Amino acid sequence: MMVHFIEGGGFSGNIYLIEGTHPVMIDTGWDANIDKIAPQIERALDGKKLDKIILTHRHVDHVGGALAIKEHFGGTIYAQKKEAEALREGDPESTGARMFGTRIKPMEVEDLKDGDVIDLGDGGSLKVMETPGHTNGGICLLDNEDGLFSGDTVFTEGGVGRWDLPTGDVQMLLKSIETLAELPIVSLYPGHGMPAEKDGARHIKLSLRSLKGYGIYG
Ligand SMILES: [Zn+2]
Repeated sequence: MMVHFIEGGGFSGNIYLIEGTHPVMIDTGWDANIDKIAPQIERALDGKKLDKIILTHRHVDHVGGALAIKEHFGGTIYAQKKEAEALREGDPESTGARMFGTRIKPMEVEDLKDGDVIDLGDGGSLKVMETPGHTNGGICLLDNEDGLFSGDTVFTEGGVGRWDLPTGDVQMLLKSIETLAELPIVSLYPGHGMPAEKDGARHIKLSLRSLKGYGIYG
């Protein structure tokens, strides 16, 4: 599976583009102005259109670029149902738009649920895992080659997502990370910071340990 990594600068979330017969983008970064990243996306798509734009959760630093990317490169936007509802409404509170002093335009979003499988073509697929805690409808995407796109649920080097934002819940986050820590993950592609090409499971176990280190034992 060929994964292109577009690093989020500043507060912006990372963008991942999976090459294939049906190219899929995971998260879109903060910026509605995509001039800086468009050439990189164009090269990766090599004349193809995007098939799907999947948003790991509703926060503006992950979804702000979605409408512009859809307009330029095509693709249907997807998110878990609760996240999708907030995005269809353009809810300034739970998307974090107001907190960051920006706005969010309502967008058309299709619903995803736990267990949905997204076909990438060429034998590749992504499975939707609902991993609430950072937001109540956040997802991770598990690829069939043992890679995990983890949004803001876990980061490399033991990082965990915030749980103090609207719809966040630390007990749900703990449960979600416990589930992820059971998986034989090789590559970990988080929503912020650097991805890890190997030892993904070790990074997730570190995240579980650091969350428990905050004194949260479920
Ligand atoms: Zn977030």
